[in-house]
Amino acid sequence: MTSWLSSRTKGNGAAADGAPTGERAAATFAARLTFEKLERRYGETMALAGVDLDIAPGEVVCLLGPSGCGKTTLLRVAAGIEKPSAGRVLINEREMAGPSRFVPPEQRGVGLMFQDFALFPHLTILGNVAFGLKALPKAAARREALAALQRVGLAKLADAYPHILSGGQQQRVALARAIVPRPAVMLMDEPFSGLDVQLREAMQEETLGLLRETRATCVIVTHHPEEAMRIGNRIAVMRAGRLVQAGTAEELYHRPADLFVARLFSEINEIAYPVRGGRVDTPLGALAVPGLADGASAVVCLRERGITLTRDGPGLAGRVLDIKFLGDVARLEVGVEGFDRPLKVRVRELDGWGRGAEVRVEVDADRALVFPAEMHESEAPITG
Ligand code: ATP
Repeated sequence: MTSWLSSRTKGNGAAADGAPTGERAAATFAARLTFEKLERRYGETMALAGVDLDIAPGEVVCLLGPSGCGKTTLLRVAAGIEKPSAGRVLINEREMAGPSRFVPPEQRGVGLMFQDFALFPHLTILGNVAFGLKALPKAAARREALAALQRVGLAKLADAYPHILSGGQQQRVALARAIVPRPAVMLMDEPFSGLDVQLREAMQEETLGLLRETRATCVIVTHHPEEAMRIGNRIAVMRAGRLVQAGTAEELYHRPADLFVARLFSEINEIAYPVRGGRVDTPLGALAVPGLADGASAVVCLRERGITLTRDGPGLAGRVLDIKFLGDVARLEVGVEGFDRPLKVRVRELDGWGRGAEVRVEVDADRALVFPAEMHESEAPITG
């Protein structure tokens, strides 16, 4: 089964044929990719429940969300492998899928790369890369494929077969195969998940460099918030078929739209309080919860890294109950006056603290995040 797909289109932004470009990847004209009220139903399941997202030409957007939230479905609908049940997909404002049209995958100028790379074992590495260039004369296809392989540093393995490649090399070949037809839009489904941790970071850098050269508009699916922050110009967070929030890493970190997004981007203490008169009373003082009625429950989120411990500074009295060494940081559990449960605190330096140490605990209440309590029982926060 082919796990990638791309096309060489004449219109719609793909570059004209030309000589290979040596060590640089051939550039294309980036395209705008737009999803409008996109829905995809599978029986009772709403895999996409009305997604609106506009991706600027050349932008790299990471799709982030838990398993089953619809990330792969969105890529498949964008590529044209699946038809939407409702809504529209547009590339450069042209309808690719919608009520009035359905443009087949090979005419969209879209490249798709799946997580298992799926190189054809019976084709040479060059043959794999040239596979998407069938519309070109053989010699030209070979030349372009070789240039792409050269760009990813694997030209000398052109005549070898994929079974000799390491995971990182397979990823590079898959990437060369995806970019060689110069897609205006590149869709990548967890392209780094098959790589070990050390290799992953290097491949992320390399891939990003290559994508910038090609100037393709890019959507990359990932499960990892850190990966999304590192490689995306913007991050689009999905849950249960919906887009929860889209923004830069800074926006999502500092101004998460809800508790679900807050949890993705930092380690937090969650403490639930009843709302009275538009506020909750906490040991840190009263915090405003506009828009929540009396008796509703609000969750106060304190970042584990946003809590400062001192020996004799200002703040609430606390006692270290437990310490876990995590390499660059240590995570402490600290019993704090006024809180029913211990707070988790991350510190860089242990400062000689041991279990039982008396500390002062400072929390910047201005940086606390407050949200309505979630409906999901399994995710219910502790109560304060
Ligand atoms: P993962 O991160 O695990 O790959 P995902 O976010 O990519 O998950 P999708 O694969 O898009 O999620 O699936 C979204 C929902 O649609 C899931 O509930 C899934 O079971 C359902 N689904 C996807 N494809 C089909 C299909 N062909 N037939 C029936 N249901 C499907």
